[in-house]
Amino acid sequence: MTRTLSIFGATGSVGLSTLDLVRQHREQYRVVALTANGNAADLAKLAREFEPEMAVVADEAAYPALKEALTGTATKAAAGPAALIEAAQMGADWTMAAIVGCAGLPSTLAAIEGGKTVALANKEALVSAGELMMAAVERSGATLLPVDSEHNAIFQCLAGGRIDQVRKITLTASGGPFRTFSLDQMRAVTPAQAVAHPNWDMGAKISVDSATMMNKGLELIEAHHLFPVGLDKLDIVVHPQSVIHSMVEYVDRSTLAQLGSPDMRIPIASALAWPERIETNSLPLDLAKIGRLDFEQPDLVRFPALRLARAAAEQGGATPAILNAANEVAVAAFLAGQVGFLDIARIVEQTLSGYVPNAPHSLDALFSIDAAARAYAETQMDILPDAA
Ligand code: NAD
Ligand code: MG
Repeated sequence: MTRTLSIFGATGSVGLSTLDLVRQHREQYRVVALTANGNAADLAKLAREFEPEMAVVADEAAYPALKEALTGTATKAAAGPAALIEAAQMGADWTMAAIVGCAGLPSTLAAIEGGKTVALANKEALVSAGELMMAAVERSGATLLPVDSEHNAIFQCLAGGRIDQVRKITLTASGGPFRTFSLDQMRAVTPAQAVAHPNWDMGAKISVDSATMMNKGLELIEAHHLFPVGLDKLDIVVHPQSVIHSMVEYVDRSTLAQLGSPDMRIPIASALAWPERIETNSLPLDLAKIGRLDFEQPDLVRFPALRLARAAAEQGGATPAILNAANEVAVAAFLAGQVGFLDIARIVEQTLSGYVPNAPHSLDALFSIDAAARAYAETQMDILPDAA
């Protein structure tokens, strides 16, 4: 039986890894929709290969180029936010939500509301709108499959017991490229250094998040929504080799872990085939060659993003949305060379303390909080902590 697929963020790192698996198992899957932000040329190339019914660019300015590049194919070209929603409502059996940032929230929610299976890579949407999103999952009966390697690992480990039997869930963190750097060394790092992750090949935004360890903070909030065991049972350990992707400890002190090469095709394959398994071309795990696995406590002084994210998770309401929005703005400013690396956590912290709205009860309310937090973060670019 073929499964129909929609891939949001098809031209990105996760989107391309997903299509790589589809290429390997063509007879099992049929792609019905592919989307990208503004890269019409890459999207059209993928559309010519996978022949979806619809290809969508989020950026309307890229529409003429997409339309032109798809001339003579059966794929309909479309653009803009409404077209993204339309693509999410096509009723695909399985949707990959791999847009980066809160920009992925409307399409991810629309796919969830369709009540089918949604593979979630777009962690910012869940961090920002966790309650709304989990309520939509409940309402629609959709199956939400975590793609983030840690959450996919936990999901797999939870097949070994029940959630009410869990004593503790431990997310592993690589520690990123600056794991051993002092604060002084971090002050001077460049965007090129920050996006060069030691183990994983990923998009620019998540690579910077890994370097500040905000990525692990976002993942803590993500885990809090996906696996409701309580924040006090969610722990983080630094594990530089990225071989153990996370662990679940049960009440009997039995700990289950999921291991594998650091290759996103492994968790994506698990979600793509679930509840079955498919083959991948990923490297096998060679523990004798790896030799040793190391672990250490995360350092909240050098990586304040971890402290900010846990506090935001504890506060709940609008706070995680503000944390995420400010972080998106600060990371973009860092990548554009406008602020330094240590300014990222500073901008997030100042936005969190300067902007305090009520809890969002609707998507519109959430988006106005997101927009206001972004505007506030923009004003924090060059205010030094002691001058603020
Ligand atoms: P990426 O930057 O490589 O790709 C992002 C995709 O989203 C691209 O197709 C881009 O065209 C599209 N996009 C960007 N902005 C958009 C917008 N405003 N509207 C619509 N589409 C837009 O990112 P990635 O590394 O593939 O990450 C995607 C998501 O998956 C992120 O939320 C990230 O945190 C998560 N994730 C990624 C990895 C990884 O290994 N790359 C691992 C775990 C989780
Ligand atoms: Mg991860």
